[in-house]
Amino acid sequence: MSSSRRVAVVTGSNKGIGFAIVRDLCKKFSGDVILTSRDLTRGQEAVKKLKEEGLNALFHQLDIDDLQSIRTLRDFLKERYGGVDVLVNNAGMAFKEADTTPFHIQAEVTMKTNFFSTRNVSTELLPLMKPQGRVVNVSSVMSVRSLQKCSPELQQKFRSDTITEEELVGLMEKFVEDTKKGVHEKEGWPNTAYGVSKIGVTVLSRIHARQLNEKRKGDNILLNACCPGWVRTDMAGPKATKSPEEGAETPVYLALLPPNVTEPHGQFVSEKKVEKW
Ligand code: NAP
Repeated sequence: MSSSRRVAVVTGSNKGIGFAIVRDLCKKFSGDVILTSRDLTRGQEAVKKLKEEGLNALFHQLDIDDLQSIRTLRDFLKERYGGVDVLVNNAGMAFKEADTTPFHIQAEVTMKTNFFSTRNVSTELLPLMKPQGRVVNVSSVMSVRSLQKCSPELQQKFRSDTITEEELVGLMEKFVEDTKKGVHEKEGWPNTAYGVSKIGVTVLSRIHARQLNEKRKGDNILLNACCPGWVRTDMAGPKATKSPEEGAETPVYLALLPPNVTEPHGQFVSEKKVEKW
């Protein structure tokens, strides 16, 4: 056991933007980089692909939808490294536009992974963040666009500097319930499950940054949400404008913010620039 060794962890990194983030961190981060995947074979194949490029990522299983899997990773990180230096919450999902799954099911499934499971990872791993730690939550510009389509009352709640994590959870649950009752638009929600789930990720990031200010100010842990851009992956398809490597740029920039800086923190960042929420 060597608790002084630095470690970076990326969720959902067997492919797409997460994989490109791991590749870049292998080149730029001084310490171990952990590629995680819910599927053992897909994860090990991704590690092998990097090995062929001369890069050494380590593998650990992680299904963010499975609390036991999150806790097994947490215990491993605690035991092996005595904490975490960089956490990139990248894992996420989206239904294809042509998918005919009923909207309320899409809402439930999308919200579960993108918001509730990301929150579970944060609940388990944020207490492990070491001083000077960096946390990057991969949200989307869709969170900003969807916020603009919310009712004024909802917009005010999501922009509030005093909204609590419990209140946010209640709102995300309400969205899913409202879709089941078929009243979500009447209740002021936009007609996008992915967009609302990413509002959840961005607002959660603002809340967690605030909590760090309150509880661990002297540790200079910086936590931000970001958009990678429109990226050619299985999620966004081949017409997207950026390569996965280009999509990794902003998340990696936030993951590697140097020790002497104090911002950005609690922001939504796109193209390495802070965007208005
Ligand atoms: P992707 O190619 O579909 O990759 C998604 C990754 O997340 C895969 O590794 C997937 O694993 C993993 N994942 C999904 N559910 C998981 C779970 N329950 N536990 C662990 N891993 C899970 O998508 P991407 O485009 O790279 O997206 C990465 C992130 O960027 C997402 O948060 C997405 O919302 C965000 N984003 C993407 C774009 C874009 O244009 N691509 C734009 C804005 C934001 P499997 O291989 O096992 O499915």
